[in-house]
Amino acid sequence: MTTTRTTCPYCGVGCGVLATPNPDGTTAIAGDPDHPANFGRLCSKGSALGETLSLTGRLLHPEINGKRAAWDEALNLVADTFSRTIAEHGPDSVAFYGSGQLLTEDYYVANKLMKGFIGSGNMDTNSRLCMASSVAGHKRAFGSDTVPGNYEDLELADLIVLVGSNLGWCHPVLYQRIARAKAERPGMRVVLIDPRRTTTADIADLHLQVQSDGDSALFVGLLAHLAQNGAIAPQFVSDHTSGLDAAMLVAEDWPIARIAEATGVPEHAIGLFFEWFAKTEKTVTVFSQGVNQSASGTDKVNAIINCHLLTGRIGRPGMGPFSVTGQPNAMGGREVGGLANMLAAHMDFIPEAVERVGRFWGSDRVACAPGLKAVDLFAAMARGEIKAVWIMATNPVDSMPEADLVRTALASCPFVVISDMSAETDTGIHAHVRLPAAGWGEKNGTVTNSERRISRQRPFLPLPGEARPDWWIITQVAKRMGFGAAFDFAGPDEIFAEHAALSSFENNGTRDFDLTGLIDAEYEALHPVQWPIRTKPTARLFADGRFFTPDGKARFIPVLPPPPFAPAPGQFILNTGRVRDHWHTMTRTGKAARLSAHYAEPFVEIHPADAAALNIRRASLVRIGNRHGSAVLRALVTDRQRRGHLFVPMHWTDQFASNARIDALVPAKVDPVSHQPALKMAQAHAEPFQTTIYGFFVARSRPILTGIDYWAIAEAAGGVRGEIALAREPAEWLAWIRVVFQLPETANLVTLHDRHSGRRSMALIEDGRLIFALYLSPDPVLVSRQWAADLLSAEGVSGPVVLAGRPGTDMPDGGPIVCACFSVGSNTIAAAVTDQGCTSVEAVGACTKAGSNCGSCRPEIRSIIEAFRLQAAE
Ligand code: SF4
Repeated sequence: MTTTRTTCPYCGVGCGVLATPNPDGTTAIAGDPDHPANFGRLCSKGSALGETLSLTGRLLHPEINGKRAAWDEALNLVADTFSRTIAEHGPDSVAFYGSGQLLTEDYYVANKLMKGFIGSGNMDTNSRLCMASSVAGHKRAFGSDTVPGNYEDLELADLIVLVGSNLGWCHPVLYQRIARAKAERPGMRVVLIDPRRTTTADIADLHLQVQSDGDSALFVGLLAHLAQNGAIAPQFVSDHTSGLDAAMLVAEDWPIARIAEATGVPEHAIGLFFEWFAKTEKTVTVFSQGVNQSASGTDKVNAIINCHLLTGRIGRPGMGPFSVTGQPNAMGGREVGGLANMLAAHMDFIPEAVERVGRFWGSDRVACAPGLKAVDLFAAMARGEIKAVWIMATNPVDSMPEADLVRTALASCPFVVISDMSAETDTGIHAHVRLPAAGWGEKNGTVTNSERRISRQRPFLPLPGEARPDWWIITQVAKRMGFGAAFDFAGPDEIFAEHAALSSFENNGTRDFDLTGLIDAEYEALHPVQWPIRTKPTARLFADGRFFTPDGKARFIPVLPPPPFAPAPGQFILNTGRVRDHWHTMTRTGKAARLSAHYAEPFVEIHPADAAALNIRRASLVRIGNRHGSAVLRALVTDRQRRGHLFVPMHWTDQFASNARIDALVPAKVDPVSHQPALKMAQAHAEPFQTTIYGFFVARSRPILTGIDYWAIAEAAGGVRGEIALAREPAEWLAWIRVVFQLPETANLVTLHDRHSGRRSMALIEDGRLIFALYLSPDPVLVSRQWAADLLSAEGVSGPVVLAGRPGTDMPDGGPIVCACFSVGSNTIAAAVTDQGCTSVEAVGACTKAGSNCGSCRPEIRSIIEAFRLQAAE
């Protein structure tokens, strides 16, 4: 077996992966022990990569208007239509919308084609939704989009401040690195600043449960506190920064009492955080989407950076502001100019840069001004101003704010092209041309992670069907548009060499992004390496106090915290985000049964008091809505949510649920500097979803769910599992079931109907194997989901046991999955605690393996142990 060193395609941690294809067609996945991002660790998503490689649901051939077409025909149509549209309406009538899933080489040629040869700035990316505010904040403070530190700093720090970052679920390997460092050095402190008590709170010494957007006031006030208490690096500030007085003028208006009012955090907790920050030299402030996805995101980034500049804690081991990106190649996209407001190689749309890039590319038509940023791009499309768009490896009909309007805009756009792995996405439905792109395991190129480390993604699988790499598709279109000489690349290695050469071109240390040392690098053998790399890689920047502003000094930015957001009466603040085991719109993770086991259904987190006030019961269904749209979700009643707040995950699409595209409810309000949408701040009302019957099913194949009032479906080993709800009972259950589950008239169902409770169960068992089972109840169904799902792969299944909805004594019920890596359920963990006396996460791991791989489930294991400890004490 040949093992390939590659990089995980999910989050911005950028873990190294060893992939070994097996003779049976499966692929063994392991963490790369030599990769400096993860040293062999992987999270649940990374560990399950091998289970997401099937060709089910893949787009394998080019299509024009839904019909299979030859590559030549499709490429000619794309090139001709773009060329004609540009000739008739000008270059700004067309646009590309890319993705942090693209490799740097794909991104580079897409950006070069749009900005360099079509001559429009209209190349934006879904990274606009992820970290555009960090880019803007960095550029305002440093004069460049530079992340100063690296992951090692997280282990060297004595204080880690996590702001708007559920690291435990969203960047699990970094969370594990911190957790391990803290276990080894118990004096290390972690502060979590987040409106939700997420699982990341498990390692926090202090959790400041701020009001949404309250983090601005916290860091503005911290700046004043640091100055007033002598926690200043006077030499660094005077020699290497400017603008402190203006920033301080605002900050001094924010005493702790006012911050407490604005954030909802008690004064003593704020005081403790300030004291720790002031006294701890080695402090790293980690921030991600909770900071970025805000209408004041750029200001928040600068409020954080201000505190690090004042204390001189930047660029040295164990200290610095640290933006963690969401996507695997968000950083690579930034490097090539994938954002509409950046030209290329970290250069802006300033005349000398436009001229320089034009000379380098040999083009006299380089765009002179920024293009349309994501929200503006789709708004322009809705107005009919964008007449041809190419969407690459992303799903804006689900991920953009006001997503229903984006869908309408795409439906009205005269020419929509997608290049994607997936045949069925909510965006792809609107495409006139669909181009099959290579996926992870087939692609060849580089990605850059959150610590500026460039790693190779290497192929280990053949290209399936007629799928082609994105760089190839883009260069083929460019050649057909008449730009052949500039796009004559034989492979990604040549593209990377040109990308490195552009970063180096007339640079001489004036620009942060510099790959001079990689221009002649052996591409195949490229080891993970941190830029800038003039002669050697750079682990940290700015310790020398030299920044990329015109005067070489970092800039303090005055930040005025926004007024506290008060929702209208009867409305909640709606926050959106990720769950542990799914990625974006689930086109890949949705294929893995074990990744669907942790959360198999879209949900809304609501505080118990709010739920009680609205008569929303646990596990019932809730409709949330506002003037933009509505969604129906399972109630997850929990006090980890603040009162007056709701949280809904962003992953579910029309492929997986009847009505759960949550970004349809988020207004298209953007940060004024970065134009990043405020995806974590919507208003919505909530109410019980009226239903007369709830159902849960497992089946070997996907049933016909169209027309059912509520449904959600997920992969299970051997089939699918799903939830349904009906407003009215069908006149004839058996007839209804035959249609939904596509059963022949002759199918011999076993049924059970308890007239007293109104519960029914029905199943079809053939030769001891379960074909389907359906449980119906006037209340939320109480059947153990994982046990029922496991029946799909069991032999000798007994009808009475299936209908009873609980395991017989010979088949224990492991309970809902907690540990996705080893498929360990909560009942198994509870048994380890009660029967085997496990009193620590480590002991549970030794007994059951739960929590012993990626560690993302360790907080949940700890809460189970804790629940039994409390029971014992009662
Ligand atoms: Fe992939 Fe998980 Fe590593 Fe992120 S933390 S890169 S999702 S393995």
